Amino acid sequence: MITARDWAGKRYAVLGLARSGAATVRALLAAGAGVVAWDSDEARRAAILSGAGRGASEAGGGGSPPGDALVDGPLHHPADGPPPRAGEDLLVAEFGDLGGYDALVVSPGVPLNTHVLAEEAWVAGVPIVGDIELFAQARVGLPAHKVVGITGTNGKSTTTALVHHLLETAGVPTLMGGNIGLPILAQAPLPNGGVYVLELSSYQIDLTETLDCDVAVLLNVTPDHLDRYDGFDAYAASKARLFAMQSPTREAVIAIGDAPSAAIARSLSARGEHLTKIAPGVCLDQSRWPALQGPHNAQNALAAIAVAKALGLDEAAIDRGLASFAGLPHRMERVATIGGVAYVNDSKATNPDSTAPALAAYPQIHWILGGKAKGDDLDACAPHFGNVVRAYTIGEAGARFAAVLGGKVPVEEAGTLDVAIARAARNAVAGDVVLLSPACASFDQYRDYEERGAAFRAAVEALR
Ligand code: ADP
Repeated sequence: MITARDWAGKRYAVLGLARSGAATVRALLAAGAGVVAWDSDEARRAAILSGAGRGASEAGGGGSPPGDALVDGPLHHPADGPPPRAGEDLLVAEFGDLGGYDALVVSPGVPLNTHVLAEEAWVAGVPIVGDIELFAQARVGLPAHKVVGITGTNGKSTTTALVHHLLETAGVPTLMGGNIGLPILAQAPLPNGGVYVLELSSYQIDLTETLDCDVAVLLNVTPDHLDRYDGFDAYAASKARLFAMQSPTREAVIAIGDAPSAAIARSLSARGEHLTKIAPGVCLDQSRWPALQGPHNAQNALAAIAVAKALGLDEAAIDRGLASFAGLPHRMERVATIGGVAYVNDSKATNPDSTAPALAAYPQIHWILGGKAKGDDLDACAPHFGNVVRAYTIGEAGARFAAVLGGKVPVEEAGTLDVAIARAARNAVAGDVVLLSPACASFDQYRDYEERGAAFRAAVEALR
């Protein structure tokens, strides 16, 4: 666990108890802080108590008198019950007056722009932070180390995993954290010389004040998450803060393929040789990197190479790492090759913009698409229709997308993933790729994109 001495004796309100929130509560308690925690989901409230260990107390709705002995049992503190009492380390309760806390720690999933607590905290003068800021505070007590922070609208997870893999290949102690789904505070500190690689969404950057990344990376800024920001400029400004938090002699790596990213790079021109710009469309031989196909992965690879060089990795280790990178599940993941036909799971591509690079990556594609559409068109994919041998639509958007594609590529409505895979397997010849890149959310037929990707893998395995 990663903790800071500074937290001892302070009081924190923690809102949101999913993975990173739960890890935050445990780290704060371990450091000797007092915590009042809340999540609208009752199961998460219960889980934090069963896992929290020391200090959880019964302050039940019966109005038990102050000074009751602390017990290890679960605490159920009603919203309208008595306020938290001195001596308790963890209460699960709504927060009351925020003025009594040293900070409000929120999960990145909490929409701060519309949440009533944000306004209250602001009025009370209480900082609103996330677990990445707590990590930044804990750095002073960690063995000598470096931090790489990676942001962008698309490609964050891939680039984070790739940088981590290049470091591992070179024998450097390293771990990943942040948006990639591994709470950073839950992990054991790295030994001397370690490198923490953090995937940072703009929400996480918004909740961070003092993270001075040794290397900060911006991959791209394209319209997304606009429900959480006052327009596109505010979203881009959030990304720019990753660099504003750095000391001026730290390294910045910026892919300048879009206007906002290029503007951020221009604003950092005073960094001189500490700024690496990655131009779009660089011709690159990706043939030895099976998990890094397509123009988008060229960008991700170039960014990761720049990071590795900034960290002093030697070229041979970088080469080996690029070639041995396995990729991430559900992102252009080659799950099998059967009879010369490659089966690729790109279930993570939940909108036409993220499907486009997958269509660009292979010349002869049997394309399985559909699900719960986010829009009516496939315009972002259109430049790559020439690579599509045949399309198979599934799910709620099946009929609509079959109509959109009609006359442009051969298309059939398959309805379900199983039927689509069976038909694609029958039609494909050696050298073709059967690609699930749905350009749609999965919720009409699956719990999430991971379940959809797992279903693709299972159906492909069954073809053998
Ligand atoms: P993130 O973590 O930012 O969501 P991922 O690495 O998980 O990004 O990739 C998600 C999807 O976005 C991939 O399936 C791919 O289609 C697309 N993608 C990946 N990298 C890039 C990039 N550099 N530019 C544009 N699209 C990308």
